[in-house]
Amino acid sequence: MAAVARGPVPCVRRGRRPYCKPDKSQDMLDTLRRIVQEVSAAPNLDEALATIVHRVKAAMEVEVCSVYLTDNQQQEHVLMATDGLRPESVLMVRLPFDEGLVGLVCARAEPLNLDDAPSHPAYRYFEESGEEHFHGFLGVPIIHHRKVLGVIVVQQKARQRFNEDQVTFLITIAAQLAGAIAHADASGEIALLRRLPVRPRDSRPLIGVAGAQGVAQGRAVVIFPSEDIDAIPDRPAEDVDGELKLFQDAVEQVKEDIRRLSERMEQVLPTEDKALFDAYLLMLDGDSLVRATEDRIRDGNWAPAALRDTVKEHVRVFTDMEDPYLRERADDVRDLGGRLLRYLQQDDGHSLDYCEDTILVGEEITASMLADVPVERLAGVVSARGSRNSHAAILARALGIPAVMGVVDLPVRQVDGSQIIVDGYSGRVYVSPSDEVREEYRRLATEEAQLREELDELIALPAQTRDEHHVALYANSGLLSDIAPIVMSKAEGIGLYRTEFPFMARQRFPGEEEQCSIYRNVLEAMAPKPVTLRTLDVGGDKALPYFPIQEDNPFLGWRGIRITLDHPEIFLVQVRAMMRANVGLGNLNILLPMLTNVWELDEALVLIRQAYDELFEEGYQLSMPRIGVMVEVPSAVYQAENLARRVDFLSIGTNDLTQYLLAVDRNNANVAELYDALHPAVLRAIAQVVEGAGAAGKPVSVCGEMAGDPVATLILLGMGIDSLSMSAASLQRVKWVIRNFTLDEAREVVEDVLPMENAGAIRQHLVRLLDDAGLGGLVRAGR
Ligand code: PEP
Ligand code: MG
Repeated sequence: MAAVARGPVPCVRRGRRPYCKPDKSQDMLDTLRRIVQEVSAAPNLDEALATIVHRVKAAMEVEVCSVYLTDNQQQEHVLMATDGLRPESVLMVRLPFDEGLVGLVCARAEPLNLDDAPSHPAYRYFEESGEEHFHGFLGVPIIHHRKVLGVIVVQQKARQRFNEDQVTFLITIAAQLAGAIAHADASGEIALLRRLPVRPRDSRPLIGVAGAQGVAQGRAVVIFPSEDIDAIPDRPAEDVDGELKLFQDAVEQVKEDIRRLSERMEQVLPTEDKALFDAYLLMLDGDSLVRATEDRIRDGNWAPAALRDTVKEHVRVFTDMEDPYLRERADDVRDLGGRLLRYLQQDDGHSLDYCEDTILVGEEITASMLADVPVERLAGVVSARGSRNSHAAILARALGIPAVMGVVDLPVRQVDGSQIIVDGYSGRVYVSPSDEVREEYRRLATEEAQLREELDELIALPAQTRDEHHVALYANSGLLSDIAPIVMSKAEGIGLYRTEFPFMARQRFPGEEEQCSIYRNVLEAMAPKPVTLRTLDVGGDKALPYFPIQEDNPFLGWRGIRITLDHPEIFLVQVRAMMRANVGLGNLNILLPMLTNVWELDEALVLIRQAYDELFEEGYQLSMPRIGVMVEVPSAVYQAENLARRVDFLSIGTNDLTQYLLAVDRNNANVAELYDALHPAVLRAIAQVVEGAGAAGKPVSVCGEMAGDPVATLILLGMGIDSLSMSAASLQRVKWVIRNFTLDEAREVVEDVLPMENAGAIRQHLVRLLDDAGLGGLVRAGR
């Protein structure tokens, strides 16, 4: 490792920027950061692995650094890259599982630090590696989401263990690189490197969060934000000359822009800062950036991806420089890349071609990206980020398109044009699946179509148990497009209309007239069926572009009723608009989100009364709507009775309630496995709310996603929930369950399930019950 300066840290000036010789830990952090940057900028896994072994060897001042990757299919660990062992041993050294020191590191999933490797009983000698000279051995497992992907090993001739700093350095590097290696594995790159046919991904799908139910097969069309150079996918250049021309035009346009900018800044910038523009022009005139991109286009990639690789290469060169001033030039290259990309994007030559069975894939699919695809061509949606609460997921559910969100390991750039299977029940995605998997999903799709037909027969039938206990089934909504005739025919009303969506789609708070007309449309479309309009629930993960809220912990921050009570002018306008929209219809319910205190409810009720009185004085023929409270935080569970006494109904928001009871961010794919509304604590909380509401003589509904999960239906029914509100796509499934059981049977299920200790056992029990009742099709693809 680099020498450590003793005594006070010297400070020198270079140019205009102070340069502080870093202390040891800063030095280490810098080295780590640069290695990780370089690795992520590498154009392929081969180069990434080469970078890792060279840079780690140099940084740790050791004699060997190697990376072994684990092949679960062949049950062996394979040497994939080395700096220090004989190069010809790459791919030749293979250790069956549980053999050798590498096998031991993998099996124990912890570092192994030895002063004399050859004397360890697990040591295996490979003649082709030339490793007999090395004694000191340090192996650290590369682990991603609990799975050991391989081992990074350093070796030295000296018979001594590696010191604490070296061990922690290697652990840190391994942890940071694990994600990149998992990506490469997922994309089949590792198999390619090993010169194996790309392994079908049947046994290991990519795991995300179920965003919208259903299964789909189709071809990936990768979409990316127009200015994000890292998100550009590889795509073959169909017309190389055309791509070259596009790129050259973009270069000329950017040059022109920069000249103009430079002239504009003439008067205001000191000469040395203006030199930046000259540097930009030089980069665009010089060989490196332009010529290298052109070469890549000639090699067959389309212009945006060729530009991406060139920019990344240059960024890597700059970030690698010792001088911090030069290192920052990497930002200039990125900036230039972004400018060039914008021009390339503007060109019609790159408009997307949506095939018949488009699976829309992206780093972060937004609702507008989704809305751009002709709906008859859209078969499925896969997004590396986001959750089932993202706009795109909500829109996909409204359209009945299967979607999987938060697929963190999705190698977005490499899947354009690949065959993809989207399983929107279990949150699984298969890239280039094997024939067997495709066949299996074709079968599931056929079953699903049959199931849909059977379910459609239920539309006209009531949602009641075999002993004629009725449970009202409502639809959740937020987009006017949801209120299609089909929704009206399936649902008994709208149990949750999220008013924040119309707010999000605008550039400013919508006024009273505008809101009134939106709400009127919804109330009218459903009348005389009831419609529950929820007051604005922004904050947390739902931001308004014109009302930014910066918080370290937004889910525990300013959201829902907390904002609207602090801004009565917003709340009053909204409530007035709702009441005016209800004139002559009388089917409005108002629902208040995120209440944690009884006094918040008292304040909200005062404001609602104020709005009513004002409108009455203004001459409107009003009726007072029914008012409800969402129970979605633990404090509201414990005060359910107090809250219920003040209003007409309670509605349990199981999405947030689960999040707050289990302390699991509902949008975070890393902890998605821990998020489960069937957790015993959530079930007991629901039971307590039903009890509280019962004591106050008020009805309770559930409007979180749990309401639409057929696996949960029996429990909610047995606990005494009066109505369920869900996405329209789930209505018939839930109705099917309700119609197949009696209320007493559902109560027995609750008795059986409540004492259980974990969500897995509860789910298993419920799935078995549905299976036994011949309703397995509903849950077959559940998690
Ligand atoms: C909930 O939290 O369960 C709910 C229905 O509200 P939202 O998903 O809009 O937060
Ligand atoms: Mg909520």
